[in-house]
Amino acid sequence: MNKIDLTTITVSEASAKMKSGEMTSVALTEAYLAQIEKSNKDINAYLEVFDDAIASAKASDKRRAAGKVGALEGIPCAIKDNILIKGKIASSASKILENYHATYDATAVSKLKDAGAIFLGRTNMDEFAMGGSTENSAFGVTRNPYDLERVAGGSSGGSAAAVAMNGALFALGSDTGGSVRQPSSFCGVVGLKPTYGAVSRYGVMAMGSSLDQIGPITKTVTDNELIFKTISGKDDKDGTTLSSEKTGIHTNRKPVIGIPRHFLGEGIKKDVLDNFDASIKRLENIGYKTVEIELPNISYSLMVYYIVMPAEVSSNMARFDGVKYGLHVDGANIIDDYFKTRRAGFGREVIRRILLGTYVLSSGYYDAYYNRANAVRKMITDDFVKAFETVDIIATPTAPSPAFRIGEKNNDPVSMYLEDIFTVTANLTGLPAISLPSGFAKAGDKDLPLGLQFIGKFGEEGTIFDVGKSFMGEV
Ligand code: GLN
Repeated sequence: MNKIDLTTITVSEASAKMKSGEMTSVALTEAYLAQIEKSNKDINAYLEVFDDAIASAKASDKRRAAGKVGALEGIPCAIKDNILIKGKIASSASKILENYHATYDATAVSKLKDAGAIFLGRTNMDEFAMGGSTENSAFGVTRNPYDLERVAGGSSGGSAAAVAMNGALFALGSDTGGSVRQPSSFCGVVGLKPTYGAVSRYGVMAMGSSLDQIGPITKTVTDNELIFKTISGKDDKDGTTLSSEKTGIHTNRKPVIGIPRHFLGEGIKKDVLDNFDASIKRLENIGYKTVEIELPNISYSLMVYYIVMPAEVSSNMARFDGVKYGLHVDGANIIDDYFKTRRAGFGREVIRRILLGTYVLSSGYYDAYYNRANAVRKMITDDFVKAFETVDIIATPTAPSPAFRIGEKNNDPVSMYLEDIFTVTANLTGLPAISLPSGFAKAGDKDLPLGLQFIGKFGEEGTIFDVGKSFMGEV
């Protein structure tokens, strides 16, 4: 058997090679495990590598021999630590769930199992997905494969780094305000936040329930579409899910690309803007029409997100009380048990958000903050609906800077929150959005990846994939 080149292989190629008998799932899985063994000690993308991966690959090869071939038969993948795999630890990179074993599969995971995928391990993240650098993990930061002194982004930093270090063919992340797209941009891979309701949230630990979506991280747009199709669809266990005809839609006209120039101002690194302009030129050169658009309320997105999200966080975190799941610390009485358990189990950022959220939901401030934020959320959504009367896709950079240095923003939560400026709107509006690798910024002798974001119409992942493929030269 030929040596497998993990730097270039894609899901589609691996499937073709397994089909033709050129490669087995066992050989492919072994190659990934060897690569993880080599890179993970520096990068810390995986919190755990599963000891049953080879056994699963053997079972997959058997199924194939028996003629039973799923859409992702024998394909090795990585799963973010907040998505449940029955029998495995799911800790959300938190001390409070350090030894918590999932008792059931997330719907996205059972769909991957049905499709024949192999689970290599669970990936590092910011605790409970709160953060943009994976520095909020209770189990150490994930380092960027392009520069070990820099972050991999977050909160799905482990999943993006796993794919970028050639340690998995694809990974699942979760995206509440950019957590699939921003690390994908920092690590030079493709990351999708699907339309709200496209992918079931059953079995993903809730952060902001009106914002959360599971999304695939891959090397190519073609692969991303395949994973999206596999995990999306109506699920009786999540009442917000949509049937598969309502998502993944392709427009039947030549897509027009809108650019909210007025929003690309302060705080954006010059390298990022130059690269964005070059990306727009590239789109024009391959025949897309681009027009400037106005999104009058978009500058409020970040403020609205940092009210709505902590409000939902504060209520979702209430279930971690030392009784139902995970860590328990004994106190003087049951109320004291709660205090002691939560104080010992949660990290600083989680506590900060619970406090903020409790504040904006408290009776004296509910109208002033939470209700107003929800009203502005509706105005932002209306801006997008209006813009989509004339364009099919809205393009922005994914993040205002390339990967930053580990520790650089640690003591400045606000500057960390500003990282999310381009990504949170897709979550507030429920729209699908993708980050595509768009080039590099030089930092000393290192090349740091940059990302281009496309936001699509509700349910139109297909259009995003089509334009994404032509941008990446995949068609
Ligand atoms: N960086 C954002 C935050 O800290 C996004 C998190 C996410 O998408 N899970 O909230």
